Amino acid sequence: MKEINSSEFEKEVLQSGRVILDFYSTECPPCEALATKFEDLSHLYGNDMKFMKIYRQGNRELAEKLGVKSSPTLLFYNDGQEVATRLTGGIKRSEIIRNLDSMLTAGRVEEIRSQIKTSVSEFDVIILGAGPGGLTAGLYLCQSKINTVLIDIALPGGHVSTTHEVSNYPGFIEPQAGYMLSHNMSEQTKLCGTIYKVAVDVTSVDLEKKEVVIDEYETVRAKRIIIATGTTPNLTGAPGEKEFKGRGISYCATCDAKYYNDKDVIVIGGGNSAVEESEYITRFVRKLTMVHQFDKLTANKQAQDKVLSNPKINIVFDTEPRTFIKEGDRIITEVENVKTGQRQKLSADGVFIFIGMKPNISLFRDKLELDQWGYIKTNEDMLTSVPGVYAVGDVISKKYRQITTAVADGTIAAMAIAKEMD
Ligand SMILES: Cc1cc2nc3c(=O)[nH]c(=O)nc-3n(C[C@H](O)[C@H](O)[C@H](O)COP(=O)(O)OP(=O)(O)OC[C@H]3O[C@@H](n4cnc5c(N)ncnc54)[C@H](O)[C@@H]3O)c2cc1C
Repeated sequence: MKEINSSEFEKEVLQSGRVILDFYSTECPPCEALATKFEDLSHLYGNDMKFMKIYRQGNRELAEKLGVKSSPTLLFYNDGQEVATRLTGGIKRSEIIRNLDSMLTAGRVEEIRSQIKTSVSEFDVIILGAGPGGLTAGLYLCQSKINTVLIDIALPGGHVSTTHEVSNYPGFIEPQAGYMLSHNMSEQTKLCGTIYKVAVDVTSVDLEKKEVVIDEYETVRAKRIIIATGTTPNLTGAPGEKEFKGRGISYCATCDAKYYNDKDVIVIGGGNSAVEESEYITRFVRKLTMVHQFDKLTANKQAQDKVLSNPKINIVFDTEPRTFIKEGDRIITEVENVKTGQRQKLSADGVFIFIGMKPNISLFRDKLELDQWGYIKTNEDMLTSVPGVYAVGDVISKKYRQITTAVADGTIAAMAIAKEMD
């Protein structure tokens, strides 16, 4: 591994055969998450290609010339030509390997694969999921001197990191940007000393043995597990939805509303998320049409009032989407009135879908007692039906799912575990 600057780029990258170049920054949690994976892969693939790092802030001009807009960004070169897809953000080991393998012959890939060494590490507690629930449990356990590892398939923060503004988290007078609130939670827990393994693939989870395999080769064992894996947005299931996901259909207002400046959008849904996110989206768009399956909104009264008095928002009640199709740059949502059966086509530049969530339990669904909606049942200590396995936050069976309730669950589970392990 070698650190270069922009004056060496021509010689070290463009004239050096196969090269992988990491544009990194300081004070950049995703860069920290990448660093160990990059180092590890440099040992594995180091005979076949050069691994280079370049400090983005110190080499701004080159970064701009190459169109590097975020840190970290990984670029792959072969004989001076950029190859493979650029990787940015929460980069997984498996994504890098896919790119590296694409630069080598199948035979060589096989040889390298055979050299991968499995590893085993031991902790007191494994926390699966680094949203508010998992991060809070991590903080309390760490402060109780309990050796804890936080494992997440994405970067830390959970849903809060993509929520535009949080105005109901106690302790802040002004509304907080979601990404800042989650960043602060994550840094607080990390600073205490909790080990992070984030942006990884979780290969398997054995709740009985308290064993989690990540990235296929790394086994993590503990005495207790806390499940804090949260929820994932529901899909409407209408034809075209999967096809146009990320190409006109979005599930995240913070991420995508800014691309619809002065445009028309449709929002599917009428609960709290749909209403709150619609209010935010109208900062950008010209017109927003909400499509809601019932004859009135199901969000809380205060949020409803804001939406009902917003001149940019029009609501179509008793209606569900049936298909999504593309016509040029526009997306056509065919909707059906559930009472009359009458169909109409609504044309817009983009569609946002906020129709509730489902719990992330696919790796251990069969092992735990669940409620009728598939959420994990716990007792008042957050203990599940499997001894030594706790669950906290949105993934558990409960009435109200908020940051404050996830944080409270995380606190309870950690304190119960700390007491048990005393
Ligand atoms: C659009 C939107 C706006 C919201 N606004 C507010 C608000 O203003 N105020 C408020 O209080 N609440 C709000 N909420 C609700 C709040 O975000 C959640 O209640 C809270 O984030 C739940 O925290 P959690 O830790 O349980 O789960 P999450 O925040 O969902 O975090 C779960 C974590 O687990 C990880 N994960 C998933 N599967 C796995 C796996 N197999 N292995 C390892 N890790 C995994 C995920 O990557 C994620 O990081 C909002 C939610 C949404 C969707």
